[in-house]
Formats: sequence, structure tokens, C-alpha cells
Amino acid sequence: MFKTFQDNLLAFYQSFPIEKPWQADRDPYKIWLLEVLSQQTRMEQALPYYRRLVDRFPKIELLADASEDDLFALWKGLGYYSRARNLHNTAKYITSEREGQFPRTYADIIKLNGVGPYTASAIASFAFREDVAVLDGNVHRVLSRVFGIAKTIQRGQDKDEFQNLANKLLIKGQSDIYNQAIMNFGSTHCKPQNPNCGDCNISEICYAYQNEKVGVLPPPKLRPILRDRYFHFVFVKSKDNIYLRKRMEKDIWQGLYEGVVQENKDLDVDFWQTQKLDIAGLLWSPWLKQVLSHQRIWMKIAIIESENWSSTNFQAFHTSELKNIAFPRVVSKWIEAHGFD
Ligand code: SF4
Repeated sequence: MFKTFQDNLLAFYQSFPIEKPWQADRDPYKIWLLEVLSQQTRMEQALPYYRRLVDRFPKIELLADASEDDLFALWKGLGYYSRARNLHNTAKYITSEREGQFPRTYADIIKLNGVGPYTASAIASFAFREDVAVLDGNVHRVLSRVFGIAKTIQRGQDKDEFQNLANKLLIKGQSDIYNQAIMNFGSTHCKPQNPNCGDCNISEICYAYQNEKVGVLPPPKLRPILRDRYFHFVFVKSKDNIYLRKRMEKDIWQGLYEGVVQENKDLDVDFWQTQKLDIAGLLWSPWLKQVLSHQRIWMKIAIIESENWSSTNFQAFHTSELKNIAFPRVVSKWIEAHGFD
């Protein structure tokens, strides 16, 4: 069965090859960039960001030398800024500690900050053809259906079971092609909804298809319990300037910019008095929502005009500069919809 699976997967790949933008030079830096950008993001959405980053930082040293603000400005709209921060720190590490040389083995790549088993396998196999199998959501879905394994990969031991199976299925010496083939098959053919079973060269050996379990395999993931957090967010405006500060705390949105923020569901008059802001009669937005991996954010936003406001933590930015400044996504969306006029 393993041999049939491998052969049919390669036959599928040859009929539907998908070119990756790093295909020409297989530069591990570019493969890494695309993998990081496409985590929790659809590939079509990640590609314009990839092109922008490679254009601006064609070499890892240039990314290392960039300011965090420059990188965040290019990242704007993609969210999950901690990925950008890890990318930046790792680029600095490779540039300063490894003379710009990307590590060449899975064992060394996985030691990099922010790089997990999936990304390390992808880089090691695509750039260096090391025999390591990728296991991402697409691969998990295909294996769960074809081999009839009704488990998620949320628990360590279940993930190990799938990883072992993926390793056994890997075609040695062709890890780059095999890994790409199974990922493409999962993303374009054996999709989460409406997989193309009617025209599938694996259906004869597919447990889910043969047993009418395509709709229930793999089982749904257990959702994490989300913690609700509430924020009141005020932009202080003086003529054409907006006062902002960079969030430095180890919390959500570290490194992004914000106005004056009170974290609470209810307005705390004392807080706003200490900020020397009179919020009486402010026109607040309704509660705006942003869902993060473990938190559900609720935010109300308002603008306050204040000619003489100043605060040591805040810096004035002209409104024309704001398009290059990275805000939390919920705030960016509000700015896009309302502006500051
Ligand atoms: S038959 Fe359907 S479920 Fe099975 S591998 Fe093919 S597309 Fe996926």
C-alpha cells in the first residue's frame, strides 16, 4: 500500500506541479521566508508579502540590518507580528554568529529561534534534499483519511504517530519532490471541504473513501478556551499629528504602535484623568473584535482633539506617515474605514 500511495502521489504531482517562487535557486533563506509568511495564512495571501520582502531584502544580511519598524511596515495586514520579530532576530543571529550561512541540516535548522519541526523539515528537504518528512495540516488530513487514523495532531503522542507514518512514506533521495507532492495534494485535491474523491488516483486505497468516512476524517480540532480582553483606545490628535507609543511590554502586539490605551471593559475616569485627557462626550466606536490564538480582543476606539497634550512616552507622527506604521490589526482596519479627518 505504501508503494501505491507514493507512486500515485508522484503521478498526481507530475500532472499538477505548482511552481514555488524560490524554485530557481532553492535558497534556504527564501524558503524560510515563504514558510514563515504562509503560517496561519493562505499561500495566495502570503505571496505578495514574500515578493515585497525578497525585493527589499534579497539577502539575509539586509533583513538583519533592517529596523523592526521597516519590517513591520512591510508585514502590515498579515498579523501575527511575533513571526516577523522571530524572523528578524534569527536573521540577525545567522548574520552575526554564522557569517550569514543558513544552517544546512534539520538538526541545526530546528535550533533556530521560532523554527518548528514542520518549517525545519521543509527547509532541509527543499533546499538540501535531506530525507525528512513534512507534517503540516495538509499532510495530516491526507494521512488521516488514506490510512484511517481518527486523531488530531494536537497531542504530542498523536503527532509523533503521524510523523512516524510520514517518515515511513517519504521517498528517500527525493524528499523535496515527495514533500511538495503530498502538500500540494492536500491543499488542492484532498481539501478540508469537498475533496475531489470522484477524480482521485488514491481513492482505491483510501480508507475514508472506501468506508464513507471522508466527512469525519480527520476529526475536528479541540478549540482552545479563549480569554476575553477589553480595551479602550484613544488617538490623541493635534492638528495633523497623532500621538503614538510603541508597545514594548511582553504581551500581545509587542513592537506595534498604539494610542492611549486603558485595558478594561468599563471606562476608568481616574486613568483618563492621569493621562490629562477629558473623555467626556467622546464618540466611541462600537466594540470591535479581533480573535487571536488564545485571546478574544474587544476594543472601542475614539479620537480626541487636544492642542497642548504631551506625554513623555508618546511621539507625534504626521497623519501622512501612518500608512508606514504597524498597528494591531483591529486598529488598522478601523483606520482604513475612518481615517483621521
Ligand atoms: S479519495 Fe478523497 S479523501 Fe481519499 S485521498 Fe482522494 S481526495 Fe482524499
